[in-house]
Amino acid sequence: MKKLLFLIIVILILSISAVYADTIGYTNISDIALYKDADYSSKITDVLNLNTKLEIIKEKNDWYSVRTQDGTSGWIEKYFVTVPAERYAANNTEYKINVRTSPTTLSKTVGQLNPGDKAKYIDTYHSWHIIEYNGNECYVASWLTDLEYGNSQKIYLLYDKTNIRNQASLNGSVLAQGNRYDSYDVISEKNGWLQIMLPDGQAGYVAGWITTYNQNYYSEEKLGYKKTAADLNIRSGPSANHNKVQVLTKGSTVKVVGSENGWDKIVSVSGTVGWCSSDYLSETYPLSGKSILLDPGHGGKDPGAISYSGKYEKYVNMEVTLKLKSILESMGARVYMTRTGDYYIANKERGRMADKLNADILLSIHHNSLNNSDYFGLSTYYNTINYKDPRYGYDLAEAIYLNAITVNGVYRDGILDRNYEVLRETNTPAALIEIGFMSNPQEEINIHNESFQDIMAEKIAAGIVDYFNN
Ligand SMILES: [Zn+2]
Repeated sequence: MKKLLFLIIVILILSISAVYADTIGYTNISDIALYKDADYSSKITDVLNLNTKLEIIKEKNDWYSVRTQDGTSGWIEKYFVTVPAERYAANNTEYKINVRTSPTTLSKTVGQLNPGDKAKYIDTYHSWHIIEYNGNECYVASWLTDLEYGNSQKIYLLYDKTNIRNQASLNGSVLAQGNRYDSYDVISEKNGWLQIMLPDGQAGYVAGWITTYNQNYYSEEKLGYKKTAADLNIRSGPSANHNKVQVLTKGSTVKVVGSENGWDKIVSVSGTVGWCSSDYLSETYPLSGKSILLDPGHGGKDPGAISYSGKYEKYVNMEVTLKLKSILESMGARVYMTRTGDYYIANKERGRMADKLNADILLSIHHNSLNNSDYFGLSTYYNTINYKDPRYGYDLAEAIYLNAITVNGVYRDGILDRNYEVLRETNTPAALIEIGFMSNPQEEINIHNESFQDIMAEKIAAGIVDYFNN
């Protein structure tokens, strides 16, 4: 009997920890250390990338104990982890919808969602929703399902005078306006738009990219880079009485994530966290001394993709490139462009230009298109032809991708190795981004929106800074 009781207790404990293991979070800052204990003076067990998926095992005060998919575990402050909303993929059609093993109709069907069924939503990839199905990660077509939110998920607005509309589109009429820091309950998500509940009880829609789930958005939005003005003691808290956890040499770059009583909370480029007196940090230009070649794809006789409504890709590529150029210049970079007007230039010439200029990186800006208007999402590309070091452009493509997909309403379409001429015909680390699908009527409208372009340019710039910090 005792043995049986013991067994029951063991089973109970196992099933409770299984429930905890279901909570997933993602790191919201690039290169952040994982610590052995909930304490910045403890050992570092790993350094995590931005957007690293974490299983949350337990919590203690302001810290989570987590496990990565690679199996390393440790403690991380809650501040650096975003726990996404509880979401469901719902079948609101009258038909059965296939559940598949991969994001393609060619993959194996493992079950079906009946009309009215809902499944726990994990993420979106290649225009398919990843759901939890019989304990496994499976895929359902996003164009057949709706994303619905669990109870009391809040969203915060990033800007003043944000329009809230009667449809999930910029074509919708404005029902109300909200301001920075306002929060609303979210009901559902569609085409990069969030359906929210207004104070008067009516539902409205707000563009996802001008919202955040993360309550740390005050600092997340404008991450401040600074440099140490002397060899500097880094402490575990905001005063000289706290333990010294590290010494950073003069001229080290740090990210400032918070401030308190003349002390700044910083993250070093190697991912360690601590506090130092604000007096010993000086302003810095994170891209000072870097030269960057930006390539607005297509031009002249080559319009690129033609959008659902008939617009040319070459123009929108140029719009985003000009925004990105001015952000990179404000960060201290020297920026060149492969073309400055609407004229044709061969892709191999664009690649070779990077070598001639002795640029540190080449980034080509594009927008995607497919003969299926259901497809959407953001992808980045690198190239490993010509026996290049496989990490050559990958690190750049990855850093940009990870930053770009932190934007609400921007969905993952992958980091892919492709034999693109512009990437192949250069010895400079090179990447290409396809910001969204112009062939998708909803995504096309987002792509042409100025606030969407501004935010994408900021995120691409943040990715470039991350690339150079590594
Ligand atoms: Zn293109």
